Amino acid sequence: MKTGIYPGSFDPITYGHIDIVKRALKVFDKLIILVSVNPNKKSLFTETERIDMIENVLSACKDQLQIETNQTLTVKRAKELGATHIVRGLRALTDFEYEFQMTHANRVLDKSIDSIFFMTDNKYSFLSSTTVKEIAEFKGDLETFVPSYVKQKIEEKYYK
Ligand code: ADP
Repeated sequence: MKTGIYPGSFDPITYGHIDIVKRALKVFDKLIILVSVNPNKKSLFTETERIDMIENVLSACKDQLQIETNQTLTVKRAKELGATHIVRGLRALTDFEYEFQMTHANRVLDKSIDSIFFMTDNKYSFLSSTTVKEIAEFKGDLETFVPSYVKQKIEEKYYK
């Protein structure tokens, strides 16, 4: 069984992340979504809230998914959980530079874990959780960026 691990903050999950999950599920039998928990990084949603949104919006593929949290090195957690590949999404050239560095650093840390990249659909190539939060702050319409469940959770944070 081929298992991939998809690390990220998912603060919150967007259609861009979902696009990558769907592409990865065509290649891997199982995908572990690894929600990073970094006490030094301020997040809008708690770890529990982020997991709840992921579970909700990806319920249709739940049999192939496992959701875990991470407070250590991704390669370490990947090995612990039996994943062979780190899945990452590429939006634009700007992602490449960072991913290039991370991939090589991860290889030095553990050469048995490799990275695999999927290019998102063109319509999500500008989309990030940060963009979504900025739009929400100014009460912009989030419908094309996140599923309605996530939209509702964002609105609860900002407007209630
Ligand atoms: P963000 O960069 O939005 O804060 P994360 O840290 O949760 O998101 O990102 C996790 C992974 O998902 C990274 O590989 C990132 O490049 C990818 N990703 C995020 N948004 C998109 C998108 N719109 N299209 C493709 N990949 C994406």
